[in-house]
Amino acid sequence: MLLYCIIGVASADRLEVCTTTLGAERKTMIIDIHAHFPFGEYSRLEDLDIFLRRARRFHVDRICLSGYVNRYGFNPTARQVREINRWTLQAMGRHPEQLIGFCFLNPAVGADAARREIDWAITRHGFCGIKLWVSVNCRSRKLDPILTAAAELGVPVLHHSSYNTLGPAAPNESTPADVADLARRFPAVPLIMAHLGHARVQGITEIAPHRNVLVDTSGSQPARGLLEEAVRRLGARRLVFGTDLPIRDYASVLGRLYDAPLTGRQRGLILGQNAARLLRLEAP
Ligand SMILES: [Zn+2]
Repeated sequence: MLLYCIIGVASADRLEVCTTTLGAERKTMIIDIHAHFPFGEYSRLEDLDIFLRRARRFHVDRICLSGYVNRYGFNPTARQVREINRWTLQAMGRHPEQLIGFCFLNPAVGADAARREIDWAITRHGFCGIKLWVSVNCRSRKLDPILTAAAELGVPVLHHSSYNTLGPAAPNESTPADVADLARRFPAVPLIMAHLGHARVQGITEIAPHRNVLVDTSGSQPARGLLEEAVRRLGARRLVFGTDLPIRDYASVLGRLYDAPLTGRQRGLILGQNAARLLRLEAP
């Protein structure tokens, strides 16, 4: 009976804390910096309604779409890259107030083709960032023209990274140490390293000296305390809320953010203010 009472009191306290915190943070725009559409079961434009209903349920205001990156394997042609970005553009056209495009690129298609894609997506159609996945390891100089263009246009680059416990998911997959190398070569470009959950403490340590690198909160390995450790080592201004939806879900990523012992200011930065700064969105 005593145990039951203690649990009851503890739960009530926690509930009150969460409700209060969530209320305070509703002043902050919530931006998911890392999602994919179309992807998996969301294959038709009409599926966007289900996709966005999930976001509304968790008060997510804006979603950055990185495209159907694995649609054509690890090494898509320039034509396939355009097709992936065209799907993102169609989604943006249906919900321009909620969806933000990141231009997916394969550095292996060459500097001229990559530049054409950047001009089409960012300059002509208002995409706000660049997404790089596993086509080329980010230590390669093939990325240099893309990063140079990002610096020129003032857009962030979201780069896949992982210390995969099962070994690399692709031959050219980049690790956090590789992202640190890219950050050292291009200190003026804001880099968003994907997947805090796959970076682990080792990855946080490796990117820590490079202040142009932020980390998104996605990744499937739910090590307790990792988010808090990242905030302690990097500062809250270097984390951004990202889910990798629909591969992950809002419940787990937001649950971790709301449950972590962070201040309201730290949570507000991570949930949306840092992303708004990077994407040059108007202050909410
Ligand atoms: Zn992703």
